[in-house]
Amino acid sequence: MDFNGKKIVVIGMGKTGIAVAGFLGERGVKVSVTDEKSSDQWGEGFKGIAKAKWLEVGNYNKNILKDADMVIPSPGVPPYNELLVDALRKNIPVVSEIELAYRFIKTPMIAVTGTNGKTTVTTLLGEILKSSGRKTFVGGNIGNPLIEYAGSLQEAEFVVAEISSFQLQWIRKFRPFIAALLNITSDHIDYHGSFEEYRRIKFNIFANQTKNDFAILNAADPAQQEISRSILSRVAGFSSRKILQEGIFVKSDKIIFKMPEREEEQYPLGIISIPGLHNVENIMASIMAARFCGCARETIIDAITAFRGLPHRIEFAGEKNSVKFYDDSKGTNVGSVLRALETFDKPVVLLMGGRDKEGDFETLKPVLPTKAKKVILFGEARDRIVSLIGNNVPILKEAKLKEAVETAYKNAQPGDVILLSPGCASFDEFANYKERGNFFKEVVRNL
Ligand code: ADP
Repeated sequence: MDFNGKKIVVIGMGKTGIAVAGFLGERGVKVSVTDEKSSDQWGEGFKGIAKAKWLEVGNYNKNILKDADMVIPSPGVPPYNELLVDALRKNIPVVSEIELAYRFIKTPMIAVTGTNGKTTVTTLLGEILKSSGRKTFVGGNIGNPLIEYAGSLQEAEFVVAEISSFQLQWIRKFRPFIAALLNITSDHIDYHGSFEEYRRIKFNIFANQTKNDFAILNAADPAQQEISRSILSRVAGFSSRKILQEGIFVKSDKIIFKMPEREEEQYPLGIISIPGLHNVENIMASIMAARFCGCARETIIDAITAFRGLPHRIEFAGEKNSVKFYDDSKGTNVGSVLRALETFDKPVVLLMGGRDKEGDFETLKPVLPTKAKKVILFGEARDRIVSLIGNNVPILKEAKLKEAVETAYKNAQPGDVILLSPGCASFDEFANYKERGNFFKEVVRNL
């Protein structure tokens, strides 16, 4: 599509929407922008484009779609949004920011998606590529949107992009030469409507790949195995639980990478300092992607050895009277709570709650009695969680996180672990997971 002279509507004026509007305006597009929030609440960057000739600020209603050639929703705009539904009804193409960016990006792209682990893998892979001397742009759902790279001189050798289901929903041609789908467990049901729909959209990451591309997927997931039959690209699986004929897997104290036409490689598990089997999976996916990009095994080993993980992902947050505290504020769905619990050998006092995303808390029911000695629930979701996790583990409830931490500490004995792994969004009490995690650490310091 030739964009010059077209009218494109951008819904949502956060960081991504503003970057998209600026990108299009510079390319001769008449850009109409709108947001359900009033313009004084739009992202900082809006000031930079507010007076541009090509910009029209529209009201947040269907009139804005008149004569539109394309609609670009921000990642936060759900598929049931009235304007989107109307655009689809009128057959106006709806595409996401990553789709738009893809059409302009000439650099080979590695896309990472999954319910959990995206940021960890995207960051680690970026580190590996950079230590291999490859200039790399790391962005997408973390850091800078892809459209910023699309509008730059594009001097990187690789783009590593963290991709969310929200962005994958509206793609058409998006085709990364390496696509990794780390795992799919229930999340964002409030947004996508059902787990099946969420999963279908995650599989979009492979939709346009061809035989020269690579698909990295989780060989332990039957649904991913199933989809691998219809993927055109070369499939490379990872598993932390079973030995694979080909792909990457764990055998005693080593990671083994074995692919046809490649010599078998080994990576010692001892180089990994981030916790849990889920992080072994993240590292295995990163190793494969890095090898497909041509990085040397030795450089990969060095980068993994140096990688200390990211804040708010099962991060050690202090110790008091031999009680250890861990901040897993980024654990915003049940899948990540399960993996966090699995990380500790002894029972933990679990802090869970916040804003519910229709999480499948019943999945925790059989696990909690073996993994948690007590559960302290807090925030908006606390009553719903109680009704789903049953009563085979002691449960206490508090309205706010601060009281929940204090109650957890009162109920802990020396040697215990107190884990904040909320399984919920933070927005009932905090601006985001970072603010929640930092607040948790502060409460711990003040105990
Ligand atoms: P994302 O960007 O997908 O949200 P992060 O790397 O930020 O992923 O981690 C988010 C949460 O998921 C953290 O609680 C982390 O401990 C957990 N997690 C990370 N990797 C995995 C994985 N492979 N499987 C399950 N949970 C994971």
